[in-house]
Amino acid sequence: MSEQSPASGPLGNLAGGPHDPEHDATAAYALDRGYVAGLTRRIVSSTGRTAPVWSPVGGIPLAHLPQSSPADVAEAFARARRAQVAWARTSLDERSAALLRLHDVVLDRQEELIDLVVWESGKARKDAYLEVAHVALTARYYARTAHEHLDTRRVGGMFPVLTRTEVNRVPKGVVGVISPWNYPLTMALCDGLPALLAGNAVVAKPDAQVMLTALLGAQMLEEAGFPAEIWQVVAGPGPEVGGAVVAEADYVAFTGSTATGRAIARQCADRLVGCSLELGGKNPMLVLRDADVHRAAEGAVRAVFSNAGQLCVSMERLYVADQVYDRFVDAFVSRTRAMTLGASLDWSVDMGSLISQQQLDTVTRHVEDAVAKGARVLTGGNARPDLGPFVFEPTILEGVTADMECFGTETFGPVVSLYRFHSEDEAVERANDGLYGLNASIYTRDTRRGRELARRVRCGTVNVNEAYAATFGSLGAPMGGMRESGMGRRQGPEGVHRYTESQSVAVQRLLPIAPVMGMSEEVNAKVMTGALRLLNKLGRA
Ligand code: NAD
Repeated sequence: MSEQSPASGPLGNLAGGPHDPEHDATAAYALDRGYVAGLTRRIVSSTGRTAPVWSPVGGIPLAHLPQSSPADVAEAFARARRAQVAWARTSLDERSAALLRLHDVVLDRQEELIDLVVWESGKARKDAYLEVAHVALTARYYARTAHEHLDTRRVGGMFPVLTRTEVNRVPKGVVGVISPWNYPLTMALCDGLPALLAGNAVVAKPDAQVMLTALLGAQMLEEAGFPAEIWQVVAGPGPEVGGAVVAEADYVAFTGSTATGRAIARQCADRLVGCSLELGGKNPMLVLRDADVHRAAEGAVRAVFSNAGQLCVSMERLYVADQVYDRFVDAFVSRTRAMTLGASLDWSVDMGSLISQQQLDTVTRHVEDAVAKGARVLTGGNARPDLGPFVFEPTILEGVTADMECFGTETFGPVVSLYRFHSEDEAVERANDGLYGLNASIYTRDTRRGRELARRVRCGTVNVNEAYAATFGSLGAPMGGMRESGMGRRQGPEGVHRYTESQSVAVQRLLPIAPVMGMSEEVNAKVMTGALRLLNKLGRA
């Protein structure tokens, strides 16, 4: 267990908070061999091989996970394909009802889910709760909008009365969902929910570090009434097992790094199957001169340090107007110093641990590189082994320049660079710098101006007077990246349509689309031209 006593340091109030004995009891059952075995039996595995996983909360061993081979992946797809045929015949109302039951199951069992998420990822409990909320929101949104997105739709036929045309939404078949470790529950489940709604089955390959949460999610799907076989889970190293998923899937929903996304896109292109790629970012926040400085500083703390910065939509670049720069920096730094850090299941933690040594190494390297090249640390800057093996302080840097690694490369940790700007045009231009385009945030009292500026920012989501939650929590709004932050969108209509083929069915009545009653092709062309002119006059599409 990590040291939980209050610690002194540059941040002042760095208390991990004592362990709640009630949660220690929960931890004991989380590590109970029977409980773990109940979850891991869902992994399709015939290899006899296992891989150990440890918790970032104190480095405690959590489980030995059965590993899948490419042959197991093929078996998972075979099972999913069989199950999908029957599933696709169920009614949309039945599938929506299962989603609504899932909504209740995850809310009812949130304590267990949150405990497991924290054990596996080391994040703060409040960040784990948001995963539960996001699954519930997603399930409810797609259940309630199922008919709007998926019902067969009548469209104008070639000729009124004669041609009756409609468009069906046909499921793709079996969708591969490959997910990262940073949001163990929501990333493992949420992309799959609209796939199920549309009549597909899923083969899920969650990240190796967070399999138990993904397996608990799969168990909850079954509890909610989804047939067990339509959600298969495989486990193992990304290139081998993830690659085998991409080799079999009818569509791939991938969330992870840009490098892996690119490899998956190539593999999908070879097979001519579609994919959605939710990738990395280097997200900018703009604080305009008319911003409410305290609101912006409070927003910046959440924008930068939620989930210890291991959040695709969190901010790593902060551009602040000259006029408010000093006041904003004072407020932001003092709020950051007041944060409570720790690796614990306790609600009192504001910012939790990084997930792994690898993450800690990247964050440490980015900060050390920046400092060595002349950046100034306004607060933070150090690992905190006294609080947990992978805890790193929330860190604010000034004077970051283009030669530093953290300037344009995603850190994916609790580190932000502050920059001053003189004009809004310059701020937008600098926000649009670089390769990524995932999420942006604008703080201003003039929300109309904020919305206008948003249109010029090349990011898939832009939040005004909020960091990321406003767009991410608006399930009707598509979410995804421009440029190297991805392809395709989750959420909204696009989030479910990606899992369907549109199929057009037209019925021709009374007259054929061809010359009739011995009419020559020449006369037919004249009649047709007259008809086209008439339809145009009538304003037909
Ligand atoms: P990663 O690309 O290393 O791994 C993601 C998943 O892909 C894991 O399950 C992994 O096992 C698997 N994988 C790895 N190589 C593979 C391959 N060759 N073929 C198939 N699967 C493979 O990413 P990560 O480090 O786990 O996640 C962090 C990254 O994810 C960050 O860049 C972050 O910004 C991004 N992310 C993006 C979003 C979004 O919505 N845009 C959300 C969360 C995380």
